[in-house]
Amino acid sequence: MNQTQNSGAPDVVLIGAGIMSATLGTVLKELEPSLHLTIFETLEDCAQESSQAWNNAGTGHAANCELNYTPQHADGSVDISEALKVNTEFDLSRQVWSYLIRKGAVPDPRAFIHPCPHMSFVWGRDNVDFLRKRFEAMSSCHCYHGMEYSENRAKIAEWTPLIMDGRGDDEPFAATRIVTGTDVDYGALTHLLIKHLSAPRFSAL
Ligand SMILES: Cc1cc2nc3c(=O)[nH]c(=O)nc-3n(C[C@H](O)[C@H](O)[C@H](O)COP(=O)(O)OP(=O)(O)OC[C@H]3O[C@@H](n4cnc5c(N)ncnc54)[C@H](O)[C@@H]3O)c2cc1C
Repeated sequence: MNQTQNSGAPDVVLIGAGIMSATLGTVLKELEPSLHLTIFETLEDCAQESSQAWNNAGTGHAANCELNYTPQHADGSVDISEALKVNTEFDLSRQVWSYLIRKGAVPDPRAFIHPCPHMSFVWGRDNVDFLRKRFEAMSSCHCYHGMEYSENRAKIAEWTPLIMDGRGDDEPFAATRIVTGTDVDYGALTHLLIKHLSAPRFSAL
């Protein structure tokens, strides 16, 4: 795949046409529209590997529900610093996408981003204690405003009926939910950005 607009040597060569090259290429072209950009891809199309929608969760960027972003220390405290960093970076991504939508480079945000509640569900006393502490730490920060926590069967069943269907009460369980989560299709976004970069007359806002 060659995005170079003339036959001269490219100013920038990007290897692999996933979301990273698509994003870096887009940002570079916004900063310097005259750049000649070449993207090499071994597969027949862009976004066939990690960026393809079936190959990533499409939620991790917000660090709402991924428990591995909030480790528990030996003293029992829950460290949310990594989650905050990831969540803040996602806000920057959203600002870039908003800009691209406003200028018409990406025609319709519904092609790649959708509202989707993010939930974490745990069972067992230790895990419930962890999730409650995690919730207390996260919900005190504005990034996680509106996050909900419950150990109540009826409430969790309302949020996620299938997970509770047939589940006994022999061990405690808990869940958090944040309704402002999003599902991002990075494969679709890669296609949109590469299409924009491939446009015959690329123009900055
Ligand atoms: C299970 C899982 C869940 C995830 N969940 C999330 C999530 O919820 N949110 C999130 O933001 N991220 C998530 N990620 C991470 C995200 O999917 C990746 O960080 C992202 O897709 C990486 O993009 P990329 O462009 O670097 O890689 P890719 O999309 O894999 O693109 C690399 C491209 O390079 C090509 N290539 C490789 N070698 C060469 C070569 N020598 N020459 C030419 N082309 C080459 C490949 O064919 C491929 O097309 C998840 C990842 C996994 C595995």
